[in-house]
Amino acid sequence: MSDLTSKSRIVSNLYALAGVLVFLFLTGLNYLIFMGLQSSPGFIFTSFFLQLLILLLFVNHLLNILKGSGYIRFSLPLKINRVLNNIILSASYYCVIFLGGTKERLEHDFVEFNASLTRVTGIKYNAGEILVLLPRCMQNSECKYNVVNNMENCISCGKCDVKSIRETIKETGVKAAVVTGGTQARALVKKYMPKIIIAVACERELISGMFDVPNCEVVGLINERPEGPCLNTRVSISELSSTLKSLIKK
Ligand code: SF4
Repeated sequence: MSDLTSKSRIVSNLYALAGVLVFLFLTGLNYLIFMGLQSSPGFIFTSFFLQLLILLLFVNHLLNILKGSGYIRFSLPLKINRVLNNIILSASYYCVIFLGGTKERLEHDFVEFNASLTRVTGIKYNAGEILVLLPRCMQNSECKYNVVNNMENCISCGKCDVKSIRETIKETGVKAAVVTGGTQARALVKKYMPKIIIAVACERELISGMFDVPNCEVVGLINERPEGPCLNTRVSISELSSTLKSLIKK
């Protein structure tokens, strides 16, 4: 079980504070309803619906945190978990702006937290059930070989990470493809029907991709952008390799 760092302790305290505030808000609301507030059935119904949603969000988030910390191994079904996480993320954008943080940092943490949730389950897959998706911007911008959808066209000159990724993938036997965007990625998911996707991209692309495939686990590996966004991007080969090793059945 992972130790609580000072950062995660601050986050836990913020969640606890949010929990207390929501509890006080709901208690006050119910007090007003039951102690004589002249309310219409529509108001009462909306109030209970909102309370149920808030409760679900908290339960889901609590389960995620316990799972991420290694205390439990289960969570709500993937589809429900994604919808609730999406609501939490959208709401968090406002909180982060209010607290003076940045959207980029929130997205970065969200992708990493999501990946840790998938890794911590310890579930193993056959190599054929795993699909690795790589962004086109990973290929050297001056390379004249077309590796999109067919990495075998790479001649392994070593000017970009496609060479090392090909070698890593070959050792494991998983399916992998360089894609130009979401449409192509979705087409490949439909074609191969993977049980889990390892996707390399920037935070924003990873998050939108995650919500595009609600039935499939996604481990997002955030790319490195030494020359700025969408140009000659890189990925940690050791992280990709260790992620594959941790997911593939021996
Ligand atoms: S490693 Fe492959 S994809 Fe990258 S620049 Fe060389 S030939 Fe092109």
